[in-house]
Amino acid sequence: MEKIEIFQNTEIAFKWRNDKELRRAYFLMKSISKPWLVNIGKHLSNLAIAIHFPINWIVKPTIYSHFVGGETIEECMPLVRTLEKYNVKAVLDYSVEGSEDEKKIQQALDETLKTIYNAAKDPNIPFAVFKPSAFGIPRVLTKASQGVELNEWEKKQVENFRQRVYTLCKTAYENNIPIMIDAEEYAYQKIVDEVIYDMMVQFNKERAIVYNTLQMYRRDRLDYLKFLYEQAQKDKIKVGIKFVRGAYLEMERERAKQMGYPDPIHPTKEDTDRAYNAALEFSVEHIDTIAVFNATHNEYSAYLFKELMDKKGLAKDDPRCYFAQLYGMSDHITFNIAQLGYNAAKYIPYGPVRQVLPYLIRRTEENTSVAGQTPRELRLIEQEFKRRKASKK
Ligand SMILES: Cc1cc2nc3c(=O)[nH]c(=O)nc-3n(C[C@H](O)[C@H](O)[C@H](O)COP(=O)(O)OP(=O)(O)OC[C@H]3O[C@@H](n4cnc5c(N)ncnc54)[C@H](O)[C@@H]3O)c2cc1C
Repeated sequence: MEKIEIFQNTEIAFKWRNDKELRRAYFLMKSISKPWLVNIGKHLSNLAIAIHFPINWIVKPTIYSHFVGGETIEECMPLVRTLEKYNVKAVLDYSVEGSEDEKKIQQALDETLKTIYNAAKDPNIPFAVFKPSAFGIPRVLTKASQGVELNEWEKKQVENFRQRVYTLCKTAYENNIPIMIDAEEYAYQKIVDEVIYDMMVQFNKERAIVYNTLQMYRRDRLDYLKFLYEQAQKDKIKVGIKFVRGAYLEMERERAKQMGYPDPIHPTKEDTDRAYNAALEFSVEHIDTIAVFNATHNEYSAYLFKELMDKKGLAKDDPRCYFAQLYGMSDHITFNIAQLGYNAAKYIPYGPVRQVLPYLIRRTEENTSVAGQTPRELRLIEQEFKRRKASKK
């Protein structure tokens, strides 16, 4: 993994954590770097959920507090204030995943609306965000994406999904808070893309309020970005894009095999990297139309974005350009880029312990994989321990 010099200042990266907090982070990262431990943890938490065994006491002070801001907006606010001191913005992400229960969907809608109102009164929270699966039934959205004939009930579900997304985007527009829609599974992204584009046409006339997420591990996404640009030119609107590489690689490959359709994911990591970086280049070149939320822990992709912005002569704090990492990961990128004066943000998931478990499992799996970032995190924390020790002499 390439090491980029501007991100290696560990004093800046970890200034916000005292020795005790840093030791705790180190211990946690060390634990989740062990695949056998993560595997046991995953099975035990699935079992605990199934039998309604209380797991808060073990999960909350450990992995939850490392990757999650709290159970409610209020619980996340001390963290938002801490980040603010270091010029780091916060994006609060209510991280509960799909449900078919109308009451739960309504509750997720109310909570996401609350995040918009909260952001509107807090200059350190520049975006709101939501997951499509929280507002639509994935199996119905999948059918709609396949263009299959829907029955009346299914049509109603798709219409409800559209209405809820409209409510969120309209509220975001009225409160002048850009809103991002996370990307999830390939199977139902087509209908999500269509709905989001409709929202962009309605709310992105002056600036990007509605942001779609492009998973650049998909083979078709660079072309889709170019298509979006052309379409936006015709419709005289702005396009907001959160760029990610994509978090569901193994599941997508497996599903494509099972269902007998071509693997939608690039064959190699290098192909994904090339597509990701090309998308950044294309977007900065067309920055008058495309606003970019560069969501990555990849040092090169963060650095490239900075270089592209500088070459284009953009202000460091141009509101169309953001760098973002997940809470609990890659502080060295976030805090160093923020210190240089660029727009940097932490994505902070929040929600009840049980409901954010799927998110936590994804994070631990990602950090366990050999190609993941854990060795890098551990090396940086070790470097900072040494630096602190030396500075105390
Ligand atoms: C702020 C933020 C928001 C995010 N939101 C979303 C979201 O809405 N939806 C979502 O899906 N993910 C989201 N992610 C997660 C993201 O998709 C990645 O899983 C994660 O960030 C790792 O990718 P990377 O760019 O940081 O870096 P890297 O570590 O350089 O890249 C790892 C990624 O490369 C890709 N990859 C790895 N091996 C291969 C291979 N053999 N072939 C092809 N591709 C490969 C995979 O996408 C893998 O996750 C978000 C991440 C951040 C930081």
